[in-house]
Amino acid sequence: MPVQRSRSFQDRTLAAMRQGSIPGTHGRVRPLTLLGAPVLHTPCEDVTDFGPELARLVEDMFATMYAAEGVGLAANQVGVPLRVFVYDCPDDEDVRHRGHVVNPRLVEADGVVLRGPEGCLSLPGLEAGTERYDHAVVEGFTADGEPVRLHGTGWFARCLQHECDHLAGEVYVDRLRGWRRRRVLRQAARASWGG
Ligand SMILES: [Zn+2]
Repeated sequence: MPVQRSRSFQDRTLAAMRQGSIPGTHGRVRPLTLLGAPVLHTPCEDVTDFGPELARLVEDMFATMYAAEGVGLAANQVGVPLRVFVYDCPDDEDVRHRGHVVNPRLVEADGVVLRGPEGCLSLPGLEAGTERYDHAVVEGFTADGEPVRLHGTGWFARCLQHECDHLAGEVYVDRLRGWRRRRVLRQAARASWGG
């Protein structure tokens, strides 16, 4: 998902990257896959090899997410059909959450359903009001194989649901109905990157 809040959030991220204090500093920016690419519309596979290739993928995904000014990125968005995503995203109380998760499972998605503006790095420049729960919990593993559990509220809850959808081969457009869906598909077809 792209950044939709203050510019300063991004500036702080770039400053921290230059200091080498956050992930992505040593990563390579990979090309983003766009709406319509088969890898984006196919469920990803579980990671079984927790070796150095996985650590490199995570590092490259951070570099790619920051270069694209994103708050979340799934592996199939860089063409890798594995169940991994990275995030650097504020929650309801402006607490910043940054990390990665391997083989995530959305174990809770509940609370109030909110329709909010949602975008995606694979549909650059577009957004649509998309319904999401305002609370979500994801369980998975780190690239070292350690279990992790992520609690999300607000924007971060939206991010967790958005990235889990990616790994299931879905994009936010798949959740839209009616005129919202037709409008964003029409905009995508007209976009410079669109079919
Ligand atoms: Zn996305």
